[in-house]
Amino acid sequence: MPDLKEIDFSLGGLIDPLEEERNMPVSGLMHRYPDRCLIMATNACFTNCRHCNRKRRWDKRTHAASKEELQAMIGYVSQARGIREVIVSGGDPLTLNERLLDWFLGAVRSLPHVEVIRIGSRVPVVMPMRITKRLCNILRKHRPVWFNTQFNHANEITEDSARACGMLLEAGIPLSNQSVLLKGINDTCEAMRSLLYGLQRIGVRPYYLFNCDHVAGTDHFRVDIGKGMEMMETLGRNISGLCLPRYVLDTRGEQGKITLAPVFPETSKGMNC
Ligand SMILES: *Cc1c(COP(=O)(O)O)cnc(C)c1O
Repeated sequence: MPDLKEIDFSLGGLIDPLEEERNMPVSGLMHRYPDRCLIMATNACFTNCRHCNRKRRWDKRTHAASKEELQAMIGYVSQARGIREVIVSGGDPLTLNERLLDWFLGAVRSLPHVEVIRIGSRVPVVMPMRITKRLCNILRKHRPVWFNTQFNHANEITEDSARACGMLLEAGIPLSNQSVLLKGINDTCEAMRSLLYGLQRIGVRPYYLFNCDHVAGTDHFRVDIGKGMEMMETLGRNISGLCLPRYVLDTRGEQGKITLAPVFPETSKGMNC
């Protein structure tokens, strides 16, 4: 159940802790790392996540990038020859009009230095019926396309979500997952292990586990980093390497994502999971 704390921005945290809005060379495009850029194609999602780190973009109205805005982003990428991977995110890019999406992915694909397109979408989790044959055929056309989704709990792995992932895999789209570590939801070894095992079972490679950003309205979800590292250390000694995501903290400025790993793992308590 949602909590009023999630829309009370006076309780701590910042509206835009990573200062994403201040670092866009063209509207909607972030270029924080040399070889890849991230495009926020829309503010709309199929569900509003209670822990969302872009709550600042929530609005009753949908603001999807227009063809002109997308064209400006393509113009930027065409000049930035160091970009080899374009991440299409949002919001959820699969809320976009399918014809516009097809055109946009094709235009990105036609840039000679762009080797890989990455889609960031929660659709397999929250709207699995959106993964249709037609959508798969669009994505297939523009391969290599990687698909990064966000399962946060084993209960989100349903028959329908597994089927959606299977359809993408059959279309030749590799799937990976980034979770957010959430207090009271997935911050125990047992809950996290079930999630990671479940993801491997449906062909989704765990990629990142994010410490919850310091975003206003998410304070009650934030897990102490020491506790998170202890959990990951225990999991690391107990479960298959293919199930293990990298535990990361996102920060503003040059450093960006920082891997959180214990410095002296051999001194840890050696718990079993
Ligand atoms: C997280 C992020 C990426 C992707 O980083 P990876 O480590 O490749 O997953 C790219 N651009 C921005 C602005 C990001 O925040």
